[in-house]
Amino acid sequence: MARFDTLIRLLGLLALMAGCGGGPAVAPAEQAPAARPTAADGAPDRCAMTPAPGDRFLAEWVSPEGAAALAALLDRRKPAPPGLAGVLRAFYAEHGDDYDLLMLVTPDAGASRAMGRFIRVGPVNRPRLGLVGRADAELHPIAPRLEGVVLLALPEGEGHRSGPTLHESLHRYGQFLPREAGFPRNGHWGYTGVHGQLGGFDPASLRCVEPPDARPPDCAAGPDGRFAVSMDRFAGFANGGDRVPYAPLELYLMGLIAADEVPDPIPVLRGPEPQPAADDGRLAFTVDGVGAIRMADVLAATGGPRPPATEAERNPRAAFFLVSAAPPTDDIRGAAEAWARGLAGAQPGWPTHSYCSATGGRARMDTRITPRAP
Ligand SMILES: [Zn+2]
Repeated sequence: MARFDTLIRLLGLLALMAGCGGGPAVAPAEQAPAARPTAADGAPDRCAMTPAPGDRFLAEWVSPEGAAALAALLDRRKPAPPGLAGVLRAFYAEHGDDYDLLMLVTPDAGASRAMGRFIRVGPVNRPRLGLVGRADAELHPIAPRLEGVVLLALPEGEGHRSGPTLHESLHRYGQFLPREAGFPRNGHWGYTGVHGQLGGFDPASLRCVEPPDARPPDCAAGPDGRFAVSMDRFAGFANGGDRVPYAPLELYLMGLIAADEVPDPIPVLRGPEPQPAADDGRLAFTVDGVGAIRMADVLAATGGPRPPATEAERNPRAAFFLVSAAPPTDDIRGAAEAWARGLAGAQPGWPTHSYCSATGGRARMDTRITPRAP
């Protein structure tokens, strides 16, 4: 079971890389990051939510055209086809414009699929996050409240996946910081010590290779001035799907904590070149040095701190819409509904984070599908 779980996670990380435009290939697939503890390990779950009888968590649509559109959008080798508008129209013909995110789940994505993808629909004006953009001219009029869609592959027979719901949801806010802030411009954290849903290494694990008990800048350098560092496994674009909580900088981007609550400075590898992994599985790189990204510079690059999230921003509403070419099996339907419940905290024993637990209890995502207002 553990080996199977690991295999699924590795496949997921590979797919996630494809789905998010890559990012630095920091960790080879066989070095996928280890899972971190979930909220279920210990403290009482203050994020648990008890649905009322009759609450719905899943809408369905059987449509070969709709499923083909989602499958193609999850396959980065193909150009994005028309057809997403048809999927949105099918949902909103039956439901109100009550959701910030629409989770479009399909069992019909092909073998080269990404596990997830975020597509912005509505206009965005968050200059303090480096994020300003127009609405999608075709999609936005269908559902003016809708901020974006998350496409999710849910293949038959593979059951619950380890994400990337939390990762794709975070692309509402990041990572779009301007280049001057010191982060890569591929939407993820790359070789920085952010260590969150969008990748990055754990700065607490950073060590010199020589001497092994030292930390940068006290590493032994070669004649060219470069030296080797190691750290716990990580990837530049993700860190283990929905098993990983949001990092402090990510909580800041979401407006859930203040800028001065983010660990400062954030280390960044300069000129990293991968080295063979150590026997203990840690990753190693030679570097020109380890730089420091300071929050003061991040705020200077963005014109000041981001305003705290409003109540509505803090607690987004999402709906899961299962779109399949043929009537879904009980296995697929059950997995999709459990995913929606799990994200809301309404699935006892859910093995990965709810949105609430991933934010440290600061926010909730309501995934109930409510009746359309008359
Ligand atoms: Zn991504």
